[in-house]
Parts: sequence; structure tokens; C-alpha cells
Amino acid sequence: MALQNFEFCNPTRIVFGKQTIQQLDKLIPEASKILIVIGGGSVRKNGTLDEVEQALGKRSFAVFEGIEPNPTFETAMLAVEKIRKENFDFVLGVGGGSVMDACKFIAGAVKYQGDTWDIVLSGGEKITQVIPFGFVPTLPATGSEMNSGGVISRKSTFDKLPIHSSLLFPLFSIWDPTKTYSLPKRQVANGIVDAFIHTVEQYITYSVNACVQDRFAEGLLLTLIEEGPKTLENPEDYEARANFIWAATMALNGLISTGVPSDWATHMIGHELTILYGIDHGQTLAIILPSLLNEMRNDKRSKLLQYGRRVWGIEHQDEEKIIDEAIAKTRAFFESLGIKTHLRDYGVDDSAVDKVVEQLQRHNLTALGERKNITPEVSRRIVEASL
Ligand code: NAP
Ligand code: FE
Repeated sequence: MALQNFEFCNPTRIVFGKQTIQQLDKLIPEASKILIVIGGGSVRKNGTLDEVEQALGKRSFAVFEGIEPNPTFETAMLAVEKIRKENFDFVLGVGGGSVMDACKFIAGAVKYQGDTWDIVLSGGEKITQVIPFGFVPTLPATGSEMNSGGVISRKSTFDKLPIHSSLLFPLFSIWDPTKTYSLPKRQVANGIVDAFIHTVEQYITYSVNACVQDRFAEGLLLTLIEEGPKTLENPEDYEARANFIWAATMALNGLISTGVPSDWATHMIGHELTILYGIDHGQTLAIILPSLLNEMRNDKRSKLLQYGRRVWGIEHQDEEKIIDEAIAKTRAFFESLGIKTHLRDYGVDDSAVDKVVEQLQRHNLTALGERKNITPEVSRRIVEASL
């Protein structure tokens, strides 16, 4: 099967390197009234916010603090109301994927007439106007700094749902790797796993003759396998951190998905685990992916063999053994980073199976995967195998 038809456009400017935050001065118009959006305070402690404020010079700004991990609609709406009341005209997110995703929702909600939760229910389709926004990311993982998606949760209704819109590409993202040195090991490990599984979700599907994307994806996976442990061990090894960051950005900026199918079932099942049990995003993916690859091994057969051979260097007469070993090595890689890969490791028992399946049905996630054949029954087997 040949490369499928596609359109590729990524308008986000990336500024990368040490001492780059000062470039905010060139990237944001002088007359802007800026709302800086941050999380729980890590960027105050590590000096990133100070540097951002300095770079803004005489521009008028205020800080909105308190976006939580797995950002909620409820908190994001407080920022929307502040912007509406005080007429801010630029949103600057400084933080991890949660801050960036919240900013995307905020930027799309400010001018929305009507119930803003509908934006999320529509998957972002209802966004017709955004106010300009850019980022200073501090956590490599999600790729949100260079893509047009976000994930928003609503605690009161147990929803964690993705939004997408071509209007949601940030204008710019400034990556200064040194601003990520303060990350706790758990977040670095989560980030390596998230970037790895973003790549896998766009690579281990059914085979399309897509040499370029395949080699890109394999390059990203190999980079994460090689640089991941180094950057986890030595957070201030600039070279390893820079490579990890760029791999995470490239893993989900539209490049490797051009003309090929993508899966995303691991993410959709993982979202339900996060909203039900508060398990970190990266951890939920590490729990689900090995069982999903095993459950779907016939549908993904040729790609699993290619992955085993090219990424893990496995050779065997027996092809089933190549697949078994590829899945085992994937799990062992996550465990080696300190990320546990079974639900029981997080204190979750078999009552989770019914709950996750119910949630998937309620969210109409009943035909998942690149072939849309991951029905609730298949999801049930995947979650059971992840216990
Ligand atoms: P995060 O939720 O943004 O941040 C996790 C923790 O790391 C927070 O406690 C944060 O603290 C801390 N942190 C961030 N930067 C730090 C730094 N430099 N030093 C010390 N601590 C720091 O984590 P994330 O993994 O980046 O984002 C996860 C969210 O993104 C999930 O909701 C997930 O579903 C979503 N996601 C989005 C996409 C996408 O394409 N948009 C893709 C995958 C996942 P503070 O709050 O104090 O800053
Ligand atoms: Fe993710």
C-alpha cells in the first residue's frame, strides 16, 4: 500500500537553546497585554518565570497561576474569565504539557459565544477564533509546544477529552533545555515514555510504504532508547537533554504521521485511567501499550516485526518470538526508567476493567485503533491483560 494522500503544514516557530528566552522580546508585539499562564509554581522556583518577565520588558502583563497536571476545564475557565474581564490579548504559557494544553483551550474559549464545554465535546471543532498564544515549555513529553492538540479534563463529570484544531498551533515555543534541569526524575521518565508512545502510536500500525516516516520514527525511538537513560541519570548533561527534548517535540508535531495510519487507542484508554485513578499520563501509557501490542499482534504483525528487528535488533527463525521479545523489551525499557507497567503497581484492582470499559462507551470510544476494530470487548481484554 502506498503513502496515503496528505497535507502537511506546521506553522509553529521553534527557538531552541541556552539563553533563548530573551527572544520573547522579538516574538511578542510591544503593545500586547499578556496573560502569563503557569502551573503549580515550579517555574517560579527554577527561575524561568523571572527570566520571562525580564524578557517582556515594559510590556503589560499579569500571571495566572494554578493550572494543575491534567488541566481542568474548571481552572482554565477562571483564566478565560480573567482575560474577558481585563482584556488581555496574548496568552503566554510557561510550563509543561498541562499548562500548554490549558492555554490552547483558553485561547480558543475567550471569544466563544455559548457554553465553552461544547468546545471540548466537539473535539475542538467549534473553535473558530483564537487569541494569539505562544509557549516557554519546561517539560519535554507531550509535543504540545509544536502541535495543534490538547487534552482537557472535567473532574465533576469524569471526562478527559482531546481537542484539535488547525487554529491551535502555538505561534512560537522557546525551548531552553536548562530550564528543564529542575524536573523530578518521575516527570523525566514520564516524558520519555510519552514521547516513545506517541511515536509508536503513529508507527506500529498496518504497513504503508512510507520509508521516510518509518525511518524518522525509528530514529526517534532509537534516540529515546539511547539518550533517555542518560538524561534521566544526569539531568544537567546538556547534550543528552537537548536530544531528548528535540525527539519529544518531533514525535508529535505532525511530521511522522503524514500519509500513514495512526492508532491512539493506548492514549484513549490511558486517559480513562488518569481521570478514574489519577495515574500520571506517561504511566497509564506504559501500563496499556504492552498489552495492546500483544492483543493486536496479528493486525500489526509486519510493523511489529520491523520494530523488533530495526529498533531492538532482534533476530529469530520464529517470527512469533521476534514479536514476543519486542514487546518484552518495550516493557523492560519503561521499567528501567522507573515506570511501573501493571495496574496493580498503582493499587488498582480488577474492578477497573468494568469502569474503564463503561467510560470508553460513554465517550463513544468504541471503535479505536488504526483499523477501528478495538471495540469495548477488545479494550476489556487489553485492560484485563494490564492488571
Ligand atoms: P505536566 O502535567 O505539565 O507537569 C507535571 C509536573 O511537572 C507538574 O507538577 C509541574 O509542576 C512539573 N514541572 C513542569 N516543568 C517543570 C520543571 N522544569 N521543573 C520542575 N517541575 C516541573 O506534565 P506533562 O507530561 O508535560 O503534561 C501532561 C498532560 O499533557 C496530560 O494532561 C496529558 O494528557 C497531556 N498530553 C497532551 C498532548 C498534546 O499533544 N497536547 C500529548 C500527550 C499528552 P508545576 O505545575 O508546578 O509547573
Ligand atoms: Fe501523550
